[in-house]
Amino acid sequence: MKIVFLGTNGWYSTKTGNTPCVLIDSDSYYVVLDAGDGIHKLDNFITSNKPIYLFISHFHLEHIFGFHILPKFRFKQGITVYGQKGTKRMLNHLVQHPFTVPLSDLPTRITVKELSEGKHRIPFPVTCKYLLHADPCFGYRVSLDGKTIAYCTDTGICDNSLELSKDADILIHECASKQGRYYKKWPHTNPQEAAELALRAKVKQLVLFHFDALIYKSLEDRKQAETEAKKIFKNTVAAIDGTSITI
Ligand SMILES: [Zn+2]
Ligand SMILES: [Zn+2]
Repeated sequence: MKIVFLGTNGWYSTKTGNTPCVLIDSDSYYVVLDAGDGIHKLDNFITSNKPIYLFISHFHLEHIFGFHILPKFRFKQGITVYGQKGTKRMLNHLVQHPFTVPLSDLPTRITVKELSEGKHRIPFPVTCKYLLHADPCFGYRVSLDGKTIAYCTDTGICDNSLELSKDADILIHECASKQGRYYKKWPHTNPQEAAELALRAKVKQLVLFHFDALIYKSLEDRKQAETEAKKIFKNTVAAIDGTSITI
């Protein structure tokens, strides 16, 4: 299984990268995590007719802006979109005139499904839990090809992020803040906090992404975050757009 990072910036796109989108290419399925504008690279990597499942964490625009880019694609198998309660209403409102091409008119058939908090089989096992953020945000835990991937974006450290991450093979965690910095009203995570979570959850690997574009102005800044995190949790990587991890 290969995990490809198509967008690794938080908030907005800059020369360091696009906004969040991660592709998991497993034996039987493509799983896409979030629809930031990094999604425009998806057709470079989706080259077979395996089913495509797209999971949306929340509705902050940098995570759903990519719906505006979907007219680019002609995926014959269609895309099934999953998200928290309210996703259908939200997408039908936003992915619509006068903003963009309506979901129902896209060349790729889109089906939207809503998940309640908890465990699901769709057909692979998925657990979703609300994280700690300014608006409701789902974290996901996905099991594919005998491996477990936890995806915790846009969150402060919380019990649910720990639960989703427990013993995961890979924890993909946001890193919007820099070392020693904390957001108060709009919870996010710094490298040290993410590394401590990885350690507590006993994951095998931590991948940092969703670097706030205003705070992380260069890829060198990300390397610094990786260095800080490694002091606590050795097997840490700071993702950049194009990072590909095989597990
Ligand atoms: Zn975000
Ligand atoms: Zn957010």
